[in-house]
Amino acid sequence: MHSLVLLGSTGSIGVNTLIIAKRYNIHIEALVAGSNIDLLNKQIAEHHPKTVVIANSADKHKVNHPHVRCGNQAILDLIETSKSNLIVNALVGYTGLAPTLKATSLGKRVALANKESLVVAGEFIDISLINVIDSEHFGLWYLINERPLSKLYITASGGAFRDWEIEKMKDAKFSDALKHPNWSMGDKITIDSATMTNKLFELLEAKWLFGTSNIDAVIEKKSIIHALCEFKDGSTTAHFAGVDMKLPIAFALQGEITEEILPPTDLLNIGTLEFLPIKAERYPIWNIKEHILKNPHLGVVVNAANEVAIEKFQKDQCSFFGMSKLILDTYEKFGDVKAKNIKEIIEIDNEVRNYAK
Ligand code: NDP
Repeated sequence: MHSLVLLGSTGSIGVNTLIIAKRYNIHIEALVAGSNIDLLNKQIAEHHPKTVVIANSADKHKVNHPHVRCGNQAILDLIETSKSNLIVNALVGYTGLAPTLKATSLGKRVALANKESLVVAGEFIDISLINVIDSEHFGLWYLINERPLSKLYITASGGAFRDWEIEKMKDAKFSDALKHPNWSMGDKITIDSATMTNKLFELLEAKWLFGTSNIDAVIEKKSIIHALCEFKDGSTTAHFAGVDMKLPIAFALQGEITEEILPPTDLLNIGTLEFLPIKAERYPIWNIKEHILKNPHLGVVVNAANEVAIEKFQKDQCSFFGMSKLILDTYEKFGDVKAKNIKEIIEIDNEVRNYAK
């Protein structure tokens, strides 16, 4: 039987992955979670993993399993000793990078939701081993055919503040930014959607996955269209699908799908569709879009600054726009760095965090 190791099982992607794994009878060899032990215990009872890893040893006694290990090194050891050839990486943030590198160095396939891995170190990741879990990139993969392309597009919902007055956004709080209009996701990606950093990350993700910087993003508020391909002949094709990650997850786990995962789009109920530009006055991070697409190795800088900025925003130590300001300032400061290997990526990440803090 097909089996997998699931990193981030208690998160939004993790929970959907378990639903798809169950549907296709994929055995769950191991579960990795952070601190939501109640949900983890329910998952253990239902899926009977051989091994479990959690973030903190202080929670170990709460986990109903005889083989519990703790911490980041335990995640890497688990990947190394696992029998499964498929590692689903649904961890959030920089923590996800080392497991991606470990799995690919062992020749294992990675169903990758952790986009930060590609943003930070896309240059050093073997893309041939990656099955991406992201609706926009799944859409692009679905659309691309042998015909010559001229440009790729992904769509953005616009995030929590897309309809707010800009003046009001200056005082927005963490809890306001968590109110995503269309998707139900983890906290970090929801904040990244409000600032548009998520879309910037997705452009970098697409750059590494599809080998082109000829890619842009537009706002489509209904999140019905996820991606578009513009071909040299003048045709543009679009990928329509429901707002549900089970579709990209099913393809990432199974490779190909021939039965219904989601109900088809109800065309007569869509109403009007419109595409809007992403404006830097509302989303200041967009000021660096062109530059970073030409210099994708700077993803490590933006990611580290962004993680520090989100932490500050959550603790009320900076404003909503303060996050973008911090990132743009750090980006300018570290504009000359270029890692030659993973060791240097780790060093740069460290330096940037110290500076941004
Ligand atoms: P969540 O915050 O919902 O889930 C993150 C998961 O990682 C949780 O299981 C969490 O555990 C676990 N985790 C966090 N830190 C650690 C740690 N140190 N050790 C072990 N486990 C840890 O995030 P999402 O599911 O929303 O997103 C996951 C990734 O997928 C992100 O990179 C995101 O950008 C990407 N993604 C998400 C989409 C979505 O629809 N949600 C869409 C496309 C991409 P716990 O909760 O128990 O603390």
